[in-house]
Amino acid sequence: MDKMKMEFQHEKKPVSLITGAAGFLGSHLVDRLLAEEHFVVGVDNLSTGNLKNLDHVISRNDFLFVAGDITGEMELPDLKYDYVWHLASPASPKDYRRLSIETMMVNAIGTKKMLDLALAHNAKFLLASTSEAYGDPQVHPQPEEYWGNVNPIGERACYDESKRFAEALTMEYHRRYDLDVRIVRIFNTYGPRMQINDGRVVPNFICQALRGEPLTVYGDGSQTRSFVFVQDEVEGIFRAMTCHGTKGEVFNIGNPEEYSILEFARLIAQICGVELNVVYKPLPPDDPRKRCPDISKAKRVLNWEPVTPLEKGLRITLDYFSSVLRETITR
Ligand code: NAD
Ligand code: UDP
Repeated sequence: MDKMKMEFQHEKKPVSLITGAAGFLGSHLVDRLLAEEHFVVGVDNLSTGNLKNLDHVISRNDFLFVAGDITGEMELPDLKYDYVWHLASPASPKDYRRLSIETMMVNAIGTKKMLDLALAHNAKFLLASTSEAYGDPQVHPQPEEYWGNVNPIGERACYDESKRFAEALTMEYHRRYDLDVRIVRIFNTYGPRMQINDGRVVPNFICQALRGEPLTVYGDGSQTRSFVFVQDEVEGIFRAMTCHGTKGEVFNIGNPEEYSILEFARLIAQICGVELNVVYKPLPPDDPRKRCPDISKAKRVLNWEPVTPLEKGLRITLDYFSSVLRETITR
């Protein structure tokens, strides 16, 4: 470790710590920061992530993977951290139901530990929060000032409420210690490296279409979501950390193009070149009826907006899932 520390200090690269680095978004952020010539330490307990997402960087000498649970005792390389990007947390409804208490702990204890670390290193801190902080919104589209409509004892509360706690804690470190923090509220993101079986609508619909199965629409499919391609999302996250005027601020990072789930099913069938065939299933409890970000603040402060057309991003994602399914079949 010491030798490594000397080499990196000598290189004078910024040092970034990413929690949740083996996850979908975390692994893309690793790529982005390596491209920016950061030295990157990625931490993950692999509860919902996959080391395969880091295969292509694992042997680089500007990247280090640490296997560990950030809510427990964990040994990090002895470096001076400049940036802490806190992404660790189950993110799909299926995962956070299965790991409900773990989700609450990573967002509570894990966030506190990462804030303490940022404080000790005088590092800039970014919290990956979520559009779920708005719950089932009564204001549409959702601006950052909206306080949300969350069921505190419902089945999604383990995620929504623990992210809201993480936001509150982050802002208290900012107020009390003047820590250089920012919060990004991430809206539904899709792209390569999503887990094929995480139950989210994008992998479900694409894999169902590829297997010739009917697409499972929950409820009547009139609920809405807006989908942002992973590279655009990571660009927004990167700018929220590095642009001027972001200290103590919250940003919606998502795509303001809104689709009903039934419209989305139609689009997926078209892109996959299959007839639309739908089977209706019950709507999960507290499933938000509408979701769409107001991104005026991100446009103004970060000069950011999504640039990848949905159809293009979905075709890239389709290619990814096709190859994952082929691998599974040939194995
Ligand atoms: P993901 O499940 O692919 O990645 C999360 C990573 O965190 C996984 O690799 C997991 O193993 C790791 N992790 C979980 N608990 C941990 C712990 N205690 N210690 C160490 N590592 C731990 O999810 P994702 O889609 O990449 O989401 C990343 C972040 O972005 C999450 O904080 C999530 O809440 C947020 N977010 C994502 C979306 C989205 O659409 N993908 C939307 C809103 C918010
Ligand atoms: N959904 C669906 N069929 C599926 C998976 C999800 O109709 O196979 C719906 C789900 O009820 C929700 C939307 O698609 O209204 C997005 O779900 P996802 O789990 O991707 O993310 P969420 O936005 O709910 O966190």
